[in-house]
Amino acid sequence: MTDPRSIPPRGSTPEQIAERLEAFRDADLDWRSGKVWAYMFDPGETAERVIKQAYTAYLSENGLDPTAFPSLVRMEKEVVAMAASHLGGDPEVVGNFTSGGTESIILAVKAARDWARARRPELARASQRPKIILPITAHAAFHKAAHYLDLDKVLVDVDPHTFKADPAAMRAAIDEHTIMMVGSAVSYAHCVVDPIAELAEIAREHDLWLHVDGCMGGFLLPYFRKLGRPVPAFGFEVAGVCSISMDLHKYAFAAKGASVVLYRNKALRRHQIFTCASWTGYTISNPTIQSSKSGGPVAAAWAVLNHFGEAGYLELASRVLTATERVMSFVDEHPELRLIGRSDMNHVAFGSETIPVFRLAEALNQRGWYVQVQLGYGASPANIHLCINPANLRWLDELLADIGRCVELVRDSAPSPLVASLTQALAQIDLASVDDQTLRQMMAMAGIAPGTIPKVGAELNEVLDLLPPAARERVLTEFMNELVA
Ligand SMILES: *Cc1c(COP(=O)(O)O)cnc(C)c1O
Repeated sequence: MTDPRSIPPRGSTPEQIAERLEAFRDADLDWRSGKVWAYMFDPGETAERVIKQAYTAYLSENGLDPTAFPSLVRMEKEVVAMAASHLGGDPEVVGNFTSGGTESIILAVKAARDWARARRPELARASQRPKIILPITAHAAFHKAAHYLDLDKVLVDVDPHTFKADPAAMRAAIDEHTIMMVGSAVSYAHCVVDPIAELAEIAREHDLWLHVDGCMGGFLLPYFRKLGRPVPAFGFEVAGVCSISMDLHKYAFAAKGASVVLYRNKALRRHQIFTCASWTGYTISNPTIQSSKSGGPVAAAWAVLNHFGEAGYLELASRVLTATERVMSFVDEHPELRLIGRSDMNHVAFGSETIPVFRLAEALNQRGWYVQVQLGYGASPANIHLCINPANLRWLDELLADIGRCVELVRDSAPSPLVASLTQALAQIDLASVDDQTLRQMMAMAGIAPGTIPKVGAELNEVLDLLPPAARERVLTEFMNELVA
């Protein structure tokens, strides 16, 4: 056996490599089973073949220099144009292909920051950092953008029943340092569309940038609207919307590494671009964060859009819509479960006042499903989040029956002694002042050993749910810093 910690002295054949890579998958989620209700956006085998073919065909081409591979520019243009017309864009709307929602969001926040600085030179002189206003339901990627771009965030509560952004509260949060507001269509956690038209009105009154996060919903919502669902306007047809992010690696079913960021016009997009001629090497002008980049993702995105076409996507949307409505009525009719927000698309979050939800999720996962849990935050209680994909549909009846069975199973489960003792301990200590050593000891108690992947069961989730968000962040940062040495 060779030592896996150094480059092997001699190489292996393609077959040996393939075999070893296959063997690594042992503990991975079996997403092709159709029993995974999170992370995967799977439209079936034929589409998988289409994206793999396109991806590998353009794997080695480099998107660094648009003059070297015009094929990549052509595909980016076509993908961006399809995205813009899908979202109510007129010919003024422009955009770029990016590696994912996070990159699209960081770029839009950067453009908003530099647009504001250009128009409001007093921002540069102010001692206070510019502020972006986020409903608490805005994706973590906006927090990451603020962190990377040195901006302040103002978090605003949402309506505690609908979990939609509250325009009056957003308006009240504006001050002279504010540069940007954010709304989602749809939000990840509760899958609801924020009142974008009202937010846009406020943004226009105050001359602020409004970004619409359509990473999850931008692609599918127009099809849901065509199918008769009441989807409010959220695209460029709403005056005041400056930019929109829309992932293609979610419900356009592209290979991962595919999103677009769109701007109302070129004057706004200009603030996104970085150019550097002040060094001894090749001059760069990068619209996106990446510089050298594979042509694979854009080719795969182009391929899948052309593979399905409007008719194909409408058909997929109709199938997941019917299934989502069934899940929602199942939860509505179940005496002990309740919807957390009423989904506008095909994800459903549900919780319970009487059943321990993390136990319920664990029981489901032990029966061969994979469901995601969301910790409580603000008015949003801990819940189970299902993404309903075409590949899941054949299992829908079984899943719902199992949810019913698992509720009975966990209803009277005894509370965990660990959680009970931690609850007591937490009441006495201030987690913010705990030193790293103590923090690690506490993590070890909860079953998180340095450098290993813990089994995330009900107990660990219950512990995390007990912690205030800042402490959750500290624990997870510590975990990540240990995971890959
Ligand atoms: C997935 C998602 C993002 C982030 O996208 P990544 O592709 O994971 O970087 C942002 N916003 C929403 C609403 C999302 O669902």
